[in-house]
Amino acid sequence: MPAVSSPVSPRQGRYDRVAIAMMILVHLVALVGIWLFPPTAPLLAVLAVSYFARMFGITAGYHRYFSHRAFRTSRAVQFLLALLGGMATQRGALWWAAHHRDHHRHSDQEGDVHSPLREGFLWSHIGWIVHDSSTPTIHENIRDFTKFPELRWLDRWHLAPPVLLGAGLLLAGGLPWLVWGFFVATVLVWHGVFAINSLAHVWGSRRFPTSDGSRNNVLLAWLTLGEGWHNNHHHFQSSARSSSHRA
Ligand SMILES: [Zn+2]
Ligand SMILES: [Zn+2]
Repeated sequence: MPAVSSPVSPRQGRYDRVAIAMMILVHLVALVGIWLFPPTAPLLAVLAVSYFARMFGITAGYHRYFSHRAFRTSRAVQFLLALLGGMATQRGALWWAAHHRDHHRHSDQEGDVHSPLREGFLWSHIGWIVHDSSTPTIHENIRDFTKFPELRWLDRWHLAPPVLLGAGLLLAGGLPWLVWGFFVATVLVWHGVFAINSLAHVWGSRRFPTSDGSRNNVLLAWLTLGEGWHNNHHHFQSSARSSSHRA
């Protein structure tokens, strides 16, 4: 993999107002939706399934498989992982993994796309995502997967999987399911994943003396299906089990 320095920086380009507006809108719809449709046991079940299924798509798919190639699988399962991760509304697998590889290559050094130690907490949590310097997929970082046309298609049409999920929820359970299964769950998945980029580099304990600020955090590990063992992960990047505290 050639060492390509990431162009993502608050000093290159500017904030994308449309992306910021969309992100605020999703939060507002979630809040108003909770007020309009108060939680019930079935709605909380829909929320939990949507949250953990999509967190699995990010953790097992976008992160372990596409970013770190921690395991092998068939082309069909590869596509399903990209589709499930895509439903988390964090762009395509190629985009996500290409940026994540830069995060490991430059962890908390110049070129890290989301370092709270260099660019501040807010940038690492959400700022970099709504900044136009992060919009392009860094294809040089992800050549091993760009050869698959179905992955390039999902990267280009990255809003298709979330729209598909939203439409399915609406058909299955009406507006209450759309609110809890898509809007509320999406906000929670977002901040769960974003917290690994921000909180997991400042809050928690360090088991391994890595050259970055990565931490292990049991609360984040629970919320993210193991990603909170982030110091372990920076130490053992390519292990499929590195999120385990025993790794
Ligand atoms: Zn990290
Ligand atoms: Zn990683």
